[in-house]
Amino acid sequence: MSQATQDSVREDGVIASVSGPVVTARGLDARMNDVVYVGDEGLMGEVIEIEGDLTTIQVYEETSGVGPGEPVESTGEPLTVDLGPGMMDAIYDGVQRPLDVLESKMDSAFLDRGVDAPGIDLDEKWEFEPTVSEGDEVAPGDVVGSVPETVTIEHKVMVPPDFEGGEVVAVEEGEFSVTETVVELDNGEEITMHQEWPVRQARPAAEKKTPREPLVSGQRILDGLFPIAKGGTAAIPGPFGSGKTVTQHQLAKWADADIVVYVGCGERGNEMTEVIEDFPELDDPKTGNPLMARTCLIANTSNMPVAARESCIYTGITIAEYYRDMGYDVALMADSTSRWAEAMREISSRLEEMPGEEGYPAYLAARLSEFYERAGYFTTVNGEEGSVSVIGAVSPPGGDFSEPVTQNTLRIVKTFWALDADLAERRHFPAINWNESYSLYQEQLDPWFVENVEDDWADERQWAVDVLDEENELQEIVQLVGKDALPEDQQLTLEIARYLREAYLQQNAFHPTDTYCSPEKTYGILTAIHTFNDEAFKALEAGVPVEEIQAIEAAPRLNRIGVQEDWEAYIEDLKAEITEQLRELY
Ligand code: ADP
Repeated sequence: MSQATQDSVREDGVIASVSGPVVTARGLDARMNDVVYVGDEGLMGEVIEIEGDLTTIQVYEETSGVGPGEPVESTGEPLTVDLGPGMMDAIYDGVQRPLDVLESKMDSAFLDRGVDAPGIDLDEKWEFEPTVSEGDEVAPGDVVGSVPETVTIEHKVMVPPDFEGGEVVAVEEGEFSVTETVVELDNGEEITMHQEWPVRQARPAAEKKTPREPLVSGQRILDGLFPIAKGGTAAIPGPFGSGKTVTQHQLAKWADADIVVYVGCGERGNEMTEVIEDFPELDDPKTGNPLMARTCLIANTSNMPVAARESCIYTGITIAEYYRDMGYDVALMADSTSRWAEAMREISSRLEEMPGEEGYPAYLAARLSEFYERAGYFTTVNGEEGSVSVIGAVSPPGGDFSEPVTQNTLRIVKTFWALDADLAERRHFPAINWNESYSLYQEQLDPWFVENVEDDWADERQWAVDVLDEENELQEIVQLVGKDALPEDQQLTLEIARYLREAYLQQNAFHPTDTYCSPEKTYGILTAIHTFNDEAFKALEAGVPVEEIQAIEAAPRLNRIGVQEDWEAYIEDLKAEITEQLRELY
């Protein structure tokens, strides 16, 4: 954040009242959404209501000890983020203060108040390599050079979207800090490696397009049944302990995005600590480089004040858009959006606004959709293609999906991965309920899978879905009369469905091989089960009893495909074995 510029500070106001994170001030010359500094300590806050002489502010830092009469200053500027090299590999708090800088400034891991730190290091030198020369014409969004930001990410330096653009009259090359001018235009505009952007405003793009490529996650049930597109939106609702965090982490590690922005929004402090400790240890499975080299973490734990949950969401999406503008595919994970909604509810009730459903403010739906709408597959201002995919975890109290945050999210997102407490209890992981989940991207992504994986990708999936549907219906009968009362062909269908669940839908995030499953392998597992299905039904028709079919030695090997490194040979061998053993029975 970059509002610390004291020269822009405007006339003083005075605190009139303090109610938790909500402070009112009198005599403050400010506009809606201006950033203000509150109290003797200068705590950062944002104007959220103005009524006559009274300005209401939500404060992003703990307000205990702050009282009436203390000064309030407005910066006259909205909440902005600092954008530039150095954001990858960074860990920020909710208002983009780098945690390591805060720690060293305060000599403690416990964040103190009123400490200001720019989001990117203003002194660090970066190797700037220009891609334009004197005499070139550049427009807003155009790339003028690049910087090796991390081992993985080439940071493109762009003409800020709010510049006019023009002819390049001077270009530098070599080591510069982000505040030094590297390209100068004939109209006097000076381009640095630093941009600022107001977080509540989406960065401009040339065109939002229909996404046609999947964000491959390496998770079978997601890629296979409920895929999300690059530029798509997804929600993962689930009760405590059902696997939201594990799923988000799997996506952060494995999804084929160039950049990951991970927003830990008010989840329990220790969970966020886990992320902060875990992520820096992890390697990017695709490049072998540290995962953090393409990741930005925004960690707003539940012991930070509620208002900061809102800013961390907006900070995250703005950073994501900035990398999108460079032509990257960015995935943003927000864990959890419920904590953000609860913050809105708290602030709203302190403002004594008319409450909507379950006390949430009436604008809950609008805020959620504004956030998810910033996702998309875009043609950027400079003509590149880039995307922001947004995956939000939702934590409905008691796992009840009928509550307002889940319901409002459902209306917005196009992919819904419903986590299920019963499945988690039975240790079926990922505990994604295949009957309740859906993806509205399926049809538009099928051509990609057909072209890149296999012609009958969609048919195989449909076959699996049909078997699982049938199982679902049969289960009701089984509960009434028991499995043995079913005709043999239906018993066999249940057996096939069991393999679909155990070999295909289940996937162990903690197994070194099973943790990632390529779309090819995902398809391969399905065809192995399908082969078993076809051969088994042939045997049944030939008069072989279902117990004998179920008992063939090869069948349980289906459940071990996931953990096979050399799965292609394994599947080929297994199909042959299954066929042979079943045909021997008749
Ligand atoms: P939540 O965030 O919903 O509270 P977690 O993501 O922390 O739940 O998951 C709870 C536990 O469930 C994990 O600690 C892990 O043991 C198990 N689990 C969840 N997903 C998986 C998975 N894909 N593979 C293996 N275990 C899983």
